[in-house]
This record gives sequence, structure tokens and C-alpha cells, in this order.
Amino acid sequence: MHSYRKELWFQTEKRREFINITPLVEECLRESGIQEGLLLCNAMHITASVFINDDESGLHRDFEQWLEKLAPEKPYDQYEHNVGEDNADAHLKRTIMGREVVVAITDGRLDLGPWEQIFYGEFDGKRRKRVLVKIIGE
Ligand code: ZN
Repeated sequence: MHSYRKELWFQTEKRREFINITPLVEECLRESGIQEGLLLCNAMHITASVFINDDESGLHRDFEQWLEKLAPEKPYDQYEHNVGEDNADAHLKRTIMGREVVVAITDGRLDLGPWEQIFYGEFDGKRRKRVLVKIIGE
């Protein structure tokens, strides 16, 4: 069995952003040379997510509005966590959107469904943060 590990770094300009990282993950898979196996991709920070969904801008605005209804950023003092920081909403949004995805690798390719794309979801950005890519297989 072979294994491969890489960290991908991101620094968003806004507090919240969704970035399609599918091409970066595919590059990792090419670099690994693995043809059959499993790929794990996870955010390494507790205020960011990795998730799979459609690359459609209307849907991304829907996610933003839905998450703001569930865990509004402001007022900051509505959260007990916000003592000396202001990112309680980001922790909650990350939990809703998930920490990681696992994708099957078949014939050296990500075995995704027709509209599935992998996203980095940032909820407390404007600083350098990491995503882990781990691949195991043959
Ligand atoms: Zn925090």
C-alpha cells in the first residue's frame, strides 16, 4: 500500500468564502500516482470546512444566507464563546458544513458523481489556513 500526504494553504480576502479545490485535489492525486484507493480531504482548522456540492453561484449564496440564519455572525455578544474573539458563528457554521470528505479513487481519478465538486469553506478567513489531503491505495 502507498500513502501520500499534502497540506494545501489558503488565505481568503473575505471572512467567508467558498473555494472550489477540486483541481488542486486532482493535482495531489496525480502527484501520488495512486490508481485505486481512498482520498481524505479535511480542514485542519475548527472554523473552516471541506464539503462536496454543486459549483453553482446561486447555491453558494443560498448556503451563505442559510448559514447566517442558523448562526448569524452578529451581534457578537450573543455567543458565550466570543470572549476575546468574535468567531463563534464560524465554529457553528463549520460544524454544519462538515470537517472532511472521503472520495473513492478509481483508475487514477476521483470517482465523483456528475455534479460533485470539492469545496473549501472558510468562515473566519483573512489569515493562512490549511487543508490536509491524505491518499492511501495502490
Ligand atoms: Zn473561536
